Amino acid sequence: MLNLENYIRDIPDFPKHGVVFKDITPLLANKEALVSCTTALLNLTENQKIDKVVGIESRGFFFATSLAQHLNAGFVPIRKPGKLPFETLKQPYTLEYGMDALEIHEDAISKGDKVLLHDDVLATGGTASAACKLIEKLGGEIVQCNFLIELEFLKGASKLRKYDVRSLLTY
Ligand code: 5GP
Repeated sequence: MLNLENYIRDIPDFPKHGVVFKDITPLLANKEALVSCTTALLNLTENQKIDKVVGIESRGFFFATSLAQHLNAGFVPIRKPGKLPFETLKQPYTLEYGMDALEIHEDAISKGDKVLLHDDVLATGGTASAACKLIEKLGGEIVQCNFLIELEFLKGASKLRKYDVRSLLTY
């Protein structure tokens, strides 16, 4: 098993001054790390039955589609406003400075669907918690929220207390 931390680099002052951004592109670009990371994320689900894997735009898409294929599940994108072409549900959420929103297609999840939510990074938890609200408004049952990276010092998991939250790497 590779040490995935070796394929994640810190980018100081991105996207703004004072933020140290975890860049996962070296991991994506390395074929062994890519396979190893997919396998490790799959192992987090412990063979639970999943109907839909929901990925959050945009870095959540990289592994969510692959996880869906391996879990014999469908893939559902959650995107920023105005990007999805069909009828959508919208969920606003608070950012450090200001507001943003996420959308999901209103027919993307059926009542009772077992859902795995995936994103690359759990930071403050605002994004993932808005995504969970959208999934539940459509009647989905969230089996697990999993992340490649959890920035524990930002306490995002406290916004997801109701759920089984798992991360491969914590900082
Ligand atoms: P939160 O809403 O939990 O504060 O932020 C999580 C969202 O911001 C995720 O969709 C994630 O892609 C992005 N994000 C925040 N910080 C980082 C980071 O350091 N690296 C990467 N790759 N994404 C980040």
